[in-house]
Amino acid sequence: MIRSLWKRYHAVALVYRIGAAFVLGSAVGLTVGEPATALTPLGDLFVRLLSMLVVPTIVFTLLSGLQQLRPETLGRIGGQVVAIYAVTSTIAVVIGLGVANLVDPGAGFELEEAAATPAAATPVEPPTLTEVLLGVVPTNPFGAIADADIVAIIFFVVVFGLALLLVAERTESAAVRDGVTAIRNSSEAGAEAMFVIVWGVLEYGVVGVFALMASVFARVGADAILPFALLMVTLTAAVVLHVTDVYLLGIMMVFVHCSPLAFLNGSRTALVTALSSSSSSATLPVTVRNAQERLCVDKSVYGFSLPIGATINMDGTVMYQGIVAIFAANLAGVQLSVGEQIIVVFLAVLASIGTPGIPSAGLVMITLVLTQLGLPLEVVGFVAGVDPILDRLRTMVNVLGDLAVTVLVASVNDAIDMTGGAWNE
Ligand code: ASP
Repeated sequence: MIRSLWKRYHAVALVYRIGAAFVLGSAVGLTVGEPATALTPLGDLFVRLLSMLVVPTIVFTLLSGLQQLRPETLGRIGGQVVAIYAVTSTIAVVIGLGVANLVDPGAGFELEEAAATPAAATPVEPPTLTEVLLGVVPTNPFGAIADADIVAIIFFVVVFGLALLLVAERTESAAVRDGVTAIRNSSEAGAEAMFVIVWGVLEYGVVGVFALMASVFARVGADAILPFALLMVTLTAAVVLHVTDVYLLGIMMVFVHCSPLAFLNGSRTALVTALSSSSSSATLPVTVRNAQERLCVDKSVYGFSLPIGATINMDGTVMYQGIVAIFAANLAGVQLSVGEQIIVVFLAVLASIGTPGIPSAGLVMITLVLTQLGLPLEVVGFVAGVDPILDRLRTMVNVLGDLAVTVLVASVNDAIDMTGGAWNE
């Protein structure tokens, strides 16, 4: 009996089980309230398990992906990835500002009222541009690994991977060549092992996502959400517009000439994980698995584009900056000029480069934008109350953006198999 139930449970695709856990968990959190916060450790365990895989996934996939590239190809692919990330992020923040100007969230709402809502987080000092740029180079690669400093890890692994390519090309010694091959084979094996672990973690994700959602909604509660309804509507409208126009119509239909539905289908496990974990970095192992197995992208592209995308490409987050800037201006009773809105575009895109893909990182960026515009920082505390919900939506767009650009760059460089995986279902 138990066996047949288990079998039936397993017959349902994992992504649907996780989706159902998401909906049920949210409902339980909203109805049960406070006692549901007891489930928090079960949810935290899921995010910890995913986070555990991030650094090894980056090191193994990047190292094995690099071995299939020539240095000049890496330069070309890297350039394309970073340039397209910058373009899609700029479009995202412009869409965010456009929709926010139309909907005008926060208009007619007094800041005093707003500030009365308890702040859930204290804003952290954002890093300066120089700090961000210098931070790319680790003083100690093992320290970067220990601190999970993704950009610094990527920098070192790329340099090391390129050096290995040169060594293999130039060496006269068979032993050294064997050593390079051993590193290459080990990193391939390591990447495969990570996929196996991700699969196991996602099985636990059914429980983890249920617990995460139940505890979030138990903490935030329906009452706290209501005053922010318009802010959520604005973000949702901007997200739908960006995903449809840029990823589905623009990238998939016009540039890649493929089915947008197949793309969404191939990305779905990563999307559900992003929605539940609020972290593009923690989702990375799942994103990588979707790129490999469902979207059939070659490691040489996703091994670079996805880890880098998880930190520098945040379309949902930058779009949110534009929306909150308008929201804050409305609360403060001021109008943002076109010039000020252009500053928001640049600031948000630049700041997103240094912002890690972790829960509520977008709040830190908001401090930067509001300070620059001279808008009241209390707004950060105000939106922090509902951030656990808005963050999920942003993170989902951040991850989908990474995958869309990865598919585009892979198709331009002939590094995708459009006859397999989700493309052929
Ligand atoms: N949580 C988001 C991410 O990990 C960043 C943000 O707070 O917007 O991508």
